[in-house]
Amino acid sequence: MCDDIVMPKGELVCEHCRCKLPYIKEPVCKSCGKEIRRREQEYCFDCMKVSHHYTEGRALFAYNEVMQRSVSAFKYKNRQEYARLYGRELAKVFCRQIKRWDAEVLIPVPVHKSRYRKRGYNQAELLAYSITEYIDLPVDSKLLVRTKKTTAQKSLSTKERVKNLQDAFQVTKSVVQYKKIILVDDIYTTGSTADACAGALKEGGAEQVYLLCLCIGSGF
Ligand SMILES: [Zn+2]
Ligand SMILES: [Zn+2]
Repeated sequence: MCDDIVMPKGELVCEHCRCKLPYIKEPVCKSCGKEIRRREQEYCFDCMKVSHHYTEGRALFAYNEVMQRSVSAFKYKNRQEYARLYGRELAKVFCRQIKRWDAEVLIPVPVHKSRYRKRGYNQAELLAYSITEYIDLPVDSKLLVRTKKTTAQKSLSTKERVKNLQDAFQVTKSVVQYKKIILVDDIYTTGSTADACAGALKEGGAEQVYLLCLCIGSGF
């Protein structure tokens, strides 16, 4: 998190940062997993307006300043080892949820191959593999591919995001061999990426697509 040395050796996070980890707290949106103010609300404002292609999503951390810095280092500064902490916490916090979903496979949200070549890794894939150190599920990072190099989503409105992502993802087999899938991603904002992926997987024959995210914005 802070790039300081951790003690004792083998620890994944320092004492100071451990206290600052912004775990998502109940109540959460029944659809995307964002924190909401009151349980009676059931859904966040985004999910009240749209229905998703994915069945249900859960996220571990609020995407606050601390996580923005950490995830940015994870994605852009080659801090691949951060996946060990992230994956361990995802597995720990959501182990019951994952069992309940009863999925056959974890599928990381893919990056375009040119971006993969440049960065050298897909951060969502690292997360998925890190989760499997604790949870007995295979990872399939070949089935779903990103065929379109999309513009950075963060500068776009929701409508533009959806348009930007149309046909951006494809499955590489004529028939998807899994019925229940858990998608893994690093950041959830409007859900347009997750929906585009879930849409492609369901078109190929998947029945349920769940979503596990490292970070999520606020639903207030
Ligand atoms: Zn630290
Ligand atoms: Zn929601």
